[in-house]
Amino acid sequence: MNVSVVLFTADLRLYDHPPLRAALEGSRQAVPLFVRDPAVDAAGFAAPNRLAFLADCLANLDEQLRRRGGRLVLRSGDVVEEVCAAAAEADADEVHMASDVSAYAHRREERLRRALEADGRRLHVHDTVTTAVAPGALTPSSSDHFAVFTPYFRKWSQESLRPALAAPRAVRVPEDVRSEPLPGRADVSGTSPGLARGGETEGRRRVAAWLRSDVDAYEDRHDDLAGDATSRLSPYLHFGALSPVELVHRARQSGGPGAEAFVRQLAWRDFHRQVLAARPHAAQDDYRTKHDQWRSEEEAREDVEAWREGRTGYPIVDAAMRQLRHEGWMHNRGRLLTASFLAKTLYVDWRVGARHFLDLLVDGDLANNQLNWQWVAGTGTDTRPNRVLNPVVQAKRYDRDGAYVRRWVPELEKVENSAVHEPWKLKDRGAVDYPDPIVDLSAGLERFRHGRGRE
Ligand code: FAD
Repeated sequence: MNVSVVLFTADLRLYDHPPLRAALEGSRQAVPLFVRDPAVDAAGFAAPNRLAFLADCLANLDEQLRRRGGRLVLRSGDVVEEVCAAAAEADADEVHMASDVSAYAHRREERLRRALEADGRRLHVHDTVTTAVAPGALTPSSSDHFAVFTPYFRKWSQESLRPALAAPRAVRVPEDVRSEPLPGRADVSGTSPGLARGGETEGRRRVAAWLRSDVDAYEDRHDDLAGDATSRLSPYLHFGALSPVELVHRARQSGGPGAEAFVRQLAWRDFHRQVLAARPHAAQDDYRTKHDQWRSEEEAREDVEAWREGRTGYPIVDAAMRQLRHEGWMHNRGRLLTASFLAKTLYVDWRVGARHFLDLLVDGDLANNQLNWQWVAGTGTDTRPNRVLNPVVQAKRYDRDGAYVRRWVPELEKVENSAVHEPWKLKDRGAVDYPDPIVDLSAGLERFRHGRGRE
């Protein structure tokens, strides 16, 4: 036997792909396989923006494989059954895949290992495919994971990463392995009009452009909402169309404080992954409970609806929520202040907001989304859990001239700078068709302080 199966999951690329490299060693044939598992869809993955981006990634992966003499094999069904069936069809003796961090991924790996072993086949699971540093590779002396970013980052920075791998020149795929037709982006309805195009080729084009010049300004401008000066690489990282190991190497080679600041953000990504790997239940449960008496979605229905629709009466919050709906993506500063607004100012359960983000975000990611929400809500790893972001102060700091608000809230396009973040101060309020604030900020603060249980 001289055939391996490579199960692609959140690693939809050919460059720097250790499972594919290992599968092809010794001029073996490989079955590059992707399984659409209804269990993943049922767990909330199947949001239109991510399905469309996934379709782009799969089409691009197939195209890249065909250029090398291969093709992508697509199946739908239970992932374990489909991998075993494909391995049997190809008479493969081994399966290679990337490790991942969610409870679902842990279960998938265990089930797959058992099923393959029962058939006399071996499963090889590769680390550092979806992270730069493997979860669990770095630990403090007293715990199985880091709960604070700064000491984690200190150790992370000292790690020597494996070299990035080239894409294979040729991929030989056995002929008689059945595949379903690939999904098309056009088959997905309900996507955001400004959704980015997916795929490794597009991701690599963006990395090249980003590292050529834009990264230099990153340290100074990453919080400038209107400047939009971040990499926008998050969806490509989420789907694994880009390798975090390769990205860290390339950013470090490009040098400068901008690149360093950018690498630090990539470390945040690894940080959240190592937390979720060690505490999979943190996807749903408070990582560190503060005994909150959150308002539920039912109790706060009108407020939640106004927040989702971007009509809270706080222009900066509304601008960011409308960007999310239009692009399936939101600037990080926008994510911070809209999450703080929901979880603290409106004092609604962070899970309600996290769910809405996952419904729309093209980079919607269990580790990054849930743990960032927890960080903002103060139930996660933030060392200042009671901090509340004031949306007016934030707006004046990160959208000084109101350009971001004007871009996303056209009702305020003609409002002068002095009132664009506080339209309730307008003399002629009737002339602007924009809602009154749904909450008084000091009353919101009081409710949060009262509801948050004593520690
Ligand atoms: P850049 O600033 O260019 O950063 C480069 C990369 O570093 C990002 O692509 C991302 O992979 C990583 N990164 C940056 N900031 C963070 C962070 N705070 N935590 C973890 N990784 C980070 N990111 C997601 O990828 N998926 C999510 O579902 C997600 N949900 C979030 C929810 C909330 C409430 C908050 C506050 C943040 C969330 N983030 C999420 C993190 C961050 O906002 C996005 O990664 C970032 O805005 C993506 O834009 P970018 O690629 O231009 O980032």
